[in-house]
Amino acid sequence: MSTPSLRIDEIPTDLFIGGAWRASRSGKRIDVFDPATEQRLGSVADATTEDAILAVDAAAKAAPGWASTAPRKRSEILRRCFELITRDAEQLAELISLENGKALADARGEVAYAAEFFRWFAEEAVRINGEISVAPSGAARTIVQYQPVGIALLITPWNFPAAMATRKIGPALAAGCTCILKPATETPLTAYAIARLLAEAGVPDGVVNVLTTSTAGKISNVILDDRRVRKLSFTGSTEVGRVLLRKAADSVINCSMELGGNAPFIVFDDADMDAAVDGAMIAKMRNGGEACTAANRFYVQRGALPEFSERLATRIGALVTDDGLKPGTQCGPLVNRAAVEKVASLVDDARSKGARVLTGGKVLDRKGYFYLPTVLAGVTPNADLLGEEIFGPVAPIVAFDTEDEAVKLANATEYGLVAYIYTRDFARGLRVSERVESGMIALNRGLVSDPAAPFGGVKQSGLGREGAHHGLLEFMEAKYISTNW
Ligand code: NAD
Repeated sequence: MSTPSLRIDEIPTDLFIGGAWRASRSGKRIDVFDPATEQRLGSVADATTEDAILAVDAAAKAAPGWASTAPRKRSEILRRCFELITRDAEQLAELISLENGKALADARGEVAYAAEFFRWFAEEAVRINGEISVAPSGAARTIVQYQPVGIALLITPWNFPAAMATRKIGPALAAGCTCILKPATETPLTAYAIARLLAEAGVPDGVVNVLTTSTAGKISNVILDDRRVRKLSFTGSTEVGRVLLRKAADSVINCSMELGGNAPFIVFDDADMDAAVDGAMIAKMRNGGEACTAANRFYVQRGALPEFSERLATRIGALVTDDGLKPGTQCGPLVNRAAVEKVASLVDDARSKGARVLTGGKVLDRKGYFYLPTVLAGVTPNADLLGEEIFGPVAPIVAFDTEDEAVKLANATEYGLVAYIYTRDFARGLRVSERVESGMIALNRGLVSDPAAPFGGVKQSGLGREGAHHGLLEFMEAKYISTNW
């Protein structure tokens, strides 16, 4: 393994509550592992329900002061958060690569993306405008004002441990909310490294609290049962999202849900083939395929099928798969053993139903959680991987003939996060974009993520949007004042 330049032992590993680093009430710890070597990296505190209440207390104590802090001041603190993450970008990228496994180049991309949420929401914090109008009857004036929704519980996944946290903390703070972040157990160190930077940037004590725990369900139940908490912003699987939505119903909590995806990648015969293959490499292989936006199903029109399949298999087959921190690595390990087993079983299922392996198709015989980047051709409609998130470096290819068929195939899923479409016919591109049931479309592009754009899904991919001005409004309530003068 290559040696990271960051000092793991300098990263705080206790709970961050009310601006102080505290051991868990139980004294228990959670081990953190390096997916490239299976070695233990260290441990973090394992929060109890008592710790969770202390975090809500801290967020409640800080709430009035933060909500009444001048927007310009909040904005400047957020801007400072952007600057500090940018200052420490290389160390954060190494840390992400170490605990998540992703290739360092991907981790660097994530840190830049994560920092941008603070810059964007520093700009949005001073653009919270209300509305004023005369009621249609002429009988009253209508004033609409936006106010912070209140204390927010933020739950994030392991696949983008920095960006999924800043995509929530940025708008929460810009809106004037205080919050409790519950990061994923697999990647807690990145969350604590960011919390330390937020404190250095001048985020007041209690405005952001961070709890790591091995009992996510218990902790989130206690927090959501506390009537002082008014917002849940969750990023993770649809399965857990459903559980949390049911729980949030008890207190009618305002929910934003960024859930799973099953992105179609549609290539028409008239596509610019260089662009389509380049885009496919980004859409499939960024983060080793461990992205909610990852292309999960490649639908290729019959005329383009031989060239696209061959070129994609050549490019994917040439990727260097190794320890994410090693120079030259393009695809790191998956996050844990369960992830490798899931990917392997999906590929085996597709093969048993008739798919052909053009490249890859196996677990690497070495320490660590490595699956060889894979392209499958002739995937049959009954293959399980067309219906669920692969979350790994596997590209299944399916042929289609007509535009209508492509749309039908793309929509044959409960998910609707993002869809990729490649065609030189712009009118067709827009027509298909409108017909595909998806919150986001990448038209002749392999990437949609942008802090300035509304990120989110339809159907069972979620509720609400993150980023853009929309992301700020997720943490605000509209208050309407009816008056006359
Ligand atoms: P996950 O749903 O297993 O876990 C997400 C978070 O929820 C973690 O912090 C976990 O500890 C916590 N959690 C698990 N069970 C819980 C419970 N009962 N109560 C409260 N919290 C609970 O997802 P994951 O495996 O960490 O991440 C991968 C998933 O996230 C994929 O489905 C992916 O598509 C999705 N994702 C979506 C987006 C998006 O923006 N739509 C972005 C990234 C990841």
